[in-house]
Amino acid sequence: MRLADRVRDLGTETAFEAAARAAALEATGRHVIHLELGEPDFDTPANIREAAKRAIDEGRTHYAPPLGLPALREALAADATARKGFAVTPDRVVVLPGAKPSIFYSLLALVQPGDEVIYPDPGFPIYESMARYAGASPVPLPLRPENGFRLDPDELEGLVTPRTRVIVFNSPGNPTGEVLTRDDLEWIAGVAQEHDLVVLADEIYGRLVHEGEHISIASLPGMAERTVVMDGFSKTFAMTGWRLGYAILPQPLLEPFRRLVINSVSCTATFSQVGAIEAITGPQDAMEAMLAEFRARRDLIVEGLNAIPGLRCHRPAGAFYVFPDVSGTGLDGRELTDRLLVEGGVAVLPGTAFGRVGANHVRVSYANSRENIALALERIAEVAASLVAGSR
Ligand code: PLP
Repeated sequence: MRLADRVRDLGTETAFEAAARAAALEATGRHVIHLELGEPDFDTPANIREAAKRAIDEGRTHYAPPLGLPALREALAADATARKGFAVTPDRVVVLPGAKPSIFYSLLALVQPGDEVIYPDPGFPIYESMARYAGASPVPLPLRPENGFRLDPDELEGLVTPRTRVIVFNSPGNPTGEVLTRDDLEWIAGVAQEHDLVVLADEIYGRLVHEGEHISIASLPGMAERTVVMDGFSKTFAMTGWRLGYAILPQPLLEPFRRLVINSVSCTATFSQVGAIEAITGPQDAMEAMLAEFRARRDLIVEGLNAIPGLRCHRPAGAFYVFPDVSGTGLDGRELTDRLLVEGGVAVLPGTAFGRVGANHVRVSYANSRENIALALERIAEVAASLVAGSR
């Protein structure tokens, strides 16, 4: 069968493949601790599940309007206005099946061959993949470990050319968990305004902040009109399988998004959207309990990893990932990932799953119980000790 050229270079998310590898090992009878997955281990809170079940029983199983249920768009606009610090009207909110389609549709709508898209390295692999799929050249912006995984404003400025159209960034960030400061955002905003660029701000971890605050770049003066804010329910409310996300769009992108939705998925599942209304307007205590638990796990894992000779771990302020430097073991991130799985029964991801900068790192997700994290730390310590001893 002859396949179209455009699918040849489509990237992927190694997390799904790593999970399959770990599952294959488990199928042979090995016990594996999963620290590779980017999804909360909690169940969706009961009030949200009940709302969606009721919706199904009430027959809300038909198509919804392409841009989302009006009641959800209104609730999201009110929520975003309160939390993100800029005035959002319901007509600018588009409900989508996950946060991912925001990346897809934004880049399809904004770039074409000859254009360039700046994206974070390390960063979520879909930015680069989708920029290339849309015909543009992806340009990595290094977030260097020695700089605390923050961006270097001069480096950002240096990457902009007359062909640059979009800057993508993600804060709190996957895979580092780092949260950009107001200064960082002002730098990005300044560059975007000076060169007339669109910003794609991935705020999917925006409510998962352990210290400091999450600031939306769209709240800075003049930025709402050039920013696509993407957010969703997957991480905040443990709703990965519901496929629920949303984008807040500048006016010119509304019609392209409407058409892209109609051409691809028609709408987001109606009863999922009813669950989403409950998620944002109902009690927040389950969500807050999850966040508190993530914070305790972060402290456990950062302390545990830093106690292991050969590993060095920063203390990120957000999301549920850490991104330790493993070069002290004598191996790079990919080699250590293999050894941890095969010898230790611990699944993590190599830093290179997120770009080149993270070659000496692994991404460890702490979306697992404290008990499993403690056991994983013991196993990682054993593997690392054998490596450090072997390299002497
Ligand atoms: N953006 C980032 C940074 C992510 O880490 C993820 C999920 O891993 C997504 C977007 C996709 O979210 P969703 O599952 O809601 O499509």
